[in-house]
Amino acid sequence: MNRAANLAAYEKKKLQLIASLQHQPGTNIRLVKDTSNLFRKREPMHGPGLNVRAFNKVINVDSENGFAEVEGMTSYADLTCECLKHGVMPTVVPQLKSITIGGAVTGIGIESSSFKYGLVHETVQEMDILLGDGTTLTCTPENEHQRLFFGFPNSYGTLGYALKLKIKVVPVKPYVRLTHIRHKDAAAYFADLEYRCKQNIDFIDGTIFGPDEYYLTVGEFTDSAPYTSDYTYKNIYYRSIRERDSDYLKVEDYVWRWDTDWFWCSQYIFADKPIVRRFLGPKRLNSVTYTKIMRWNRKYNIAYYLDLLQGFHSEAVIQDVEIPLDRCSDFLDFYFNSIKFMPVWVCPIRPLKQNAGFSLYPMDPEKLYVNFGFWNVIKSREKMGPGHYNRLVEKKVRELGGMKSLYSEAYYPPEQFWDIYNKDEYFFLKSRYDPERKLMDLYAKCVQRQ
Ligand SMILES: Cc1cc2nc3c(=O)[nH]c(=O)nc-3n(C[C@H](O)[C@H](O)[C@H](O)COP(=O)(O)OP(=O)(O)OC[C@H]3O[C@@H](n4cnc5c(N)ncnc54)[C@H](O)[C@@H]3O)c2cc1C
Repeated sequence: MNRAANLAAYEKKKLQLIASLQHQPGTNIRLVKDTSNLFRKREPMHGPGLNVRAFNKVINVDSENGFAEVEGMTSYADLTCECLKHGVMPTVVPQLKSITIGGAVTGIGIESSSFKYGLVHETVQEMDILLGDGTTLTCTPENEHQRLFFGFPNSYGTLGYALKLKIKVVPVKPYVRLTHIRHKDAAAYFADLEYRCKQNIDFIDGTIFGPDEYYLTVGEFTDSAPYTSDYTYKNIYYRSIRERDSDYLKVEDYVWRWDTDWFWCSQYIFADKPIVRRFLGPKRLNSVTYTKIMRWNRKYNIAYYLDLLQGFHSEAVIQDVEIPLDRCSDFLDFYFNSIKFMPVWVCPIRPLKQNAGFSLYPMDPEKLYVNFGFWNVIKSREKMGPGHYNRLVEKKVRELGGMKSLYSEAYYPPEQFWDIYNKDEYFFLKSRYDPERKLMDLYAKCVQRQ
């Protein structure tokens, strides 16, 4: 890997991108890239769009000094693959292969190493950001643009676009030993989660299958393995959690264990059925395929109308929320009574000390939080108001002192939204870094779906 050549190529692409920015219509710049993991409906945008597809290269992996330099639209699949060649991985790798580094930093990302390293944006040391007026600048936690550095996570491309990032990487071993631990009640489950987060382990996440079936999965690096399982084709990872107490995976298979079946969401298109798996084949059993199908479904509202024909009203509830550990049992009481669908993904996060500074997604570094991920459609004979269930989630998260990420539908009224996501700091950053309002505002983008 030739760092100097890669940097020179990056600088050249950057100049071309800045030139193309001049051809964008006034506001509402549309980012043109091949994949997206954004799950809210948006008004279609017009104009040519800002083509950032070329910013998908890993510039350098410095395993000795523990960092990698990477272009902003590089997928975690490519970034992790390159890092593993050097015996390291990014400290936090989101579970879906097509999530890009820039998307995860601006849109909040987590994984089973987050109890140790925090959220994805906490792994970033430096960012090159393209502003709406075509200026580029480098932000670090210490330099004159530190407020932009700390305000960038959860800004969803409304303050600028990350074109190059320097991130922390850590050494790996070839295998990960998994231990699945079952609990029958929430109190014991969360107490055990807290205890294990203090132990010397490498990864931990969890899966809840029902009010009396809770699992923690602990992952530990090992140099050797008596066998390894394969969940990239015929076998399904999430089912294995209920079936076995321990398991071994190659490190890359551990990193992408949730991707093959999009956690468990592959079942919504029957991809959990052996015949469909055979038809799709291992190359198409992944989150990129499912996202394309879901997007197509959303565009034409196919499932929605099929439900209506059968007399059902449906609402998609696709959310990830962070709840302080001591309120997690309360959250589950609410969940089992109102949202109900299973499974639920669980992932502990301990924000690092500097997290207090991440102004648009503030979390308390003294607390352990738990992320709950739940993704399905609720069907009922009764017609509820728009976003009924999503609003219930928002209300409960707020009541429990939690945070909700904004990649999916949000229904907050403006005052509440800005109270949570730090209006003063956001508009300070907007006036300093996007005074002509070339980019949309966060509320318009995330709630009004413009
Ligand atoms: C079903 C589902 C499951 C998810 N599960 C997880 C999970 O398990 N772990 C996890 O960590 N995250 C998860 N996410 C959230 C995901 O990390 C965020 O949605 C992330 O923003 C997606 O990144 P992307 O690269 O696909 O960006 P996109 O979807 O393309 O864009 C997301 C937003 O970020 C902006 N953006 C994209 N690139 C940049 C950039 N370089 N600079 C500035 N702004 C940019 C876009 O304008 C857009 O507003 C999940 C999302 C979904 C829909």
